[in-house]
Amino acid sequence: MDARTSVYCDYNATAPLRDSARQAMLGAMAVDGNPSSIHANGRSARRTIEDARKTILMGLGAEDYRLVFTSGATEALSMVLRPTTRRVRDTSDMAPPYGRNSRLFVATTEHVAALDGHGFESPTKLAVDQSGVVDLAALYEHLGAMAEDDALVCVHGANNETGVVQPIADIARRCREAGALFVSDLVQWIGREPIPDPLPDVMIISAHKLGGPAGVGALVYNPATVEFGPALIRGGGQEMGARAGTENRVGIAGFAAAVTEALGEQEAEANRVRGIRDSFELALKEAFPSAIVFGDGAHRLPNTSCFALEGTQASTTLMRLDLEGIALSSGSACSSGKVKASHVLAAMGADDLLANCALRLSLGYGTTESDIRRVIEALRR
Ligand code: PLP
Repeated sequence: MDARTSVYCDYNATAPLRDSARQAMLGAMAVDGNPSSIHANGRSARRTIEDARKTILMGLGAEDYRLVFTSGATEALSMVLRPTTRRVRDTSDMAPPYGRNSRLFVATTEHVAALDGHGFESPTKLAVDQSGVVDLAALYEHLGAMAEDDALVCVHGANNETGVVQPIADIARRCREAGALFVSDLVQWIGREPIPDPLPDVMIISAHKLGGPAGVGALVYNPATVEFGPALIRGGGQEMGARAGTENRVGIAGFAAAVTEALGEQEAEANRVRGIRDSFELALKEAFPSAIVFGDGAHRLPNTSCFALEGTQASTTLMRLDLEGIALSSGSACSSGKVKASHVLAAMGADDLLANCALRLSLGYGTTESDIRRVIEALRR
């Protein structure tokens, strides 16, 4: 973390590296070897990767699933949200690939990496209500009216900007009944909400959102229901042919350690951080009675507060906070640099004027009550 930043409240952009992840990476760095080599060093490198794969699958309660390591969630989403993705009906009878005209359903508040459309001619955007929850009735009506195998549904578990949680267990059940494939971006969910039951057909995760290193992520899928390809990155056939290139074994080791720690402390941390977030919002409303909290009233991640102080430009506030050593965010860090109102807040009915005032506070394992007091004092100033 930047030495100047003494209060870091931007975990949804990148969580600080956990010590367990750092130690795991140092351990992996101690061995030189290509995981594809057959000598002892290569076998040791391979073991690091296969142990990490097993650890993450077990942590997710997805022992029957497969996991492909990627460079992050963006790549994993690009791999699966394609017209060539297939639903497996049974092991011998494969549904035809989704054609360009097949239906991709994406929530309007998805991360831009999912919203892109990925070669589908006209993805159907699923509206959300004012609190940011996806319109289930519309989705289920679409699914009911569609031919089997025709739909690929992509709804994230929780939103990175507002923390609003989607009813993904319901969606997973309905998709299963309708014969549709369900892809869920769980980047912000893992370590903050309990593992979903039932699991989506495809889950997308990213190491740097839970205290692992940036540049590593995973596509986790149920081989009994989904097949995708051809590989986007072709070459040596690593990752069972799904993603070529020598694996980032050091990052992968850190990823598995971070997942293990984040899942192990999930419940206790969710309660602790929820308490701090809630006292922040109380103090915020006391200091600024007209403050607006987006997604207030909906089920939200325990660590996230997206709020606006009307008439106060987020960019100005962020700079002032930064000068005081406090790191918050406006909208999504992945799209920062673009002066554009948040598509998430727009989908929830906020106009540009209000959306441009929105700030995001996102907390995590290093956050304390005193951090929050400092944020409120700085906002008052
Ligand atoms: N999905 C969500 C919900 C995110 O918050 C992010 C990053 O902000 C991504 C996907 C992209 O993740 P990555 O940085 O691993 O590509």
